[in-house]
Amino acid sequence: MDRYSRQTLFAPIGVDGQKSIGEKHVLLIGAGALGTGNAEALVRAGVGKITIIDRDYVEWSNLQRQQLYCEKDAREKLPKAVAAKQRLQLINSEVEINAHVADVTADMLEALVKKEEFDLLLDATDNFDIRMIINDVSQKHGVPWIYGACVGSYGISFTVFPGESPCLQCLLKTVPLGGATCDTVGIIAPAVGMVVAHQVAEALKILSGNVKDCNRKLVSFDLWKGQYVSLNVAGLKNTECLSCGENKAYPYLSFENQTKTAVLCGRDSVQIRPAETMSRELGVLKELLATQGISAESNPYLMSFHVEGHRLVAFQDGRVLVHGTKDIVRAKTLYHRYLG
Ligand SMILES: [Zn+2]
Repeated sequence: MDRYSRQTLFAPIGVDGQKSIGEKHVLLIGAGALGTGNAEALVRAGVGKITIIDRDYVEWSNLQRQQLYCEKDAREKLPKAVAAKQRLQLINSEVEINAHVADVTADMLEALVKKEEFDLLLDATDNFDIRMIINDVSQKHGVPWIYGACVGSYGISFTVFPGESPCLQCLLKTVPLGGATCDTVGIIAPAVGMVVAHQVAEALKILSGNVKDCNRKLVSFDLWKGQYVSLNVAGLKNTECLSCGENKAYPYLSFENQTKTAVLCGRDSVQIRPAETMSRELGVLKELLATQGISAESNPYLMSFHVEGHRLVAFQDGRVLVHGTKDIVRAKTLYHRYLG
C-alpha cells in the first residue's frame, strides 16, 4: 500500500482511516470544474468506489479549469462522465468507477441512492434545482452531502449532516447562495481549487471515520479580494424547514418541479428531455439525416449537426441540446423537425 503512505502517515487518517476510505462509496453529482477536482483527489486518495453523473460533453471552454480533460476529449465531444472515468482509471486502477451520462432528476437520484447505499453525496453541479434535490435526498435517506459552488473568484462550501446541521433549505433565507453562474461572469481556476480543497478535506474526514473533526461552519472566500469568511450557521437550523424540520415534506422530491424543457442556466442553449427515458439509435438517426443532406458528427454517446443556424446535439438517452437560442418554442420546432 505504498501509494497511500503519505496519507497513512498523516496521524488523523492512519492505517485504519485509509482502510475505511477504501471501503467507501461516493456519489459525485457533476463532472465539471468542481467534479473533476473532487474526483481526481478522491481517486488518488484511494476511495473504494465512485459513481459520477454528468449530462454534458467536453467543450473547449472547459479545458481552462476542468482538470481531467484534454483537447482530444473536446475534439471528440466525449461525454464528461466517460472522459472523466477514462482518465481516473489511468490515475488509479484500483478504484471502482461508475459513470452515468444522464440528467439528474429527483426520481433517478432517489432510485440510485436507494440502490447503492452511498456514504457521501458530493455536490459539483452548477444548478440550483439539482442542489435542492440532493438536499432532500440527503435528508430522506440519511446520507451527508457537501455543498460547493464557485463563480468568478468567489467560492463557498458547507457540509450538511442530516438530522444534525441546518440544511441548504434552512440557509437559503439568510445566506446569499448564488444566482450568477460561471457562464455569465466567468471563473478562474484557483477559485475552483479552493472549493475542491474544502470539499475533499471534509470528505476525507467523513470517509476515514473522523466525522468529529468536520468543520461545521460555512466557509466562503474571494481569492481576488483576499477575503475569507467562516460562518457559524448552527443557529439557522429551522424546525419548520420542509426538508429537515419536524414536518418533512421533501418539496423537491414530492412534486414535479423539473420542466421537461429547460433553458440552460446562463447559456444560449435549450435542453429538451423526452417525457420517457428512451434509447436513441444514433446510427439510424445519422442515416436519416444524411438522406436529407445533413451531415452529422457522432461518437458512441452523442451526435451533433448544424441546421438553420443552430447546432443540435442528440444524446443516447433521448435528450437534445439546441445551441444558439434561448427560445423554447424555436428549440422545440427544430427538435420536432429533425429528431421526431
Ligand atoms: Zn432545513
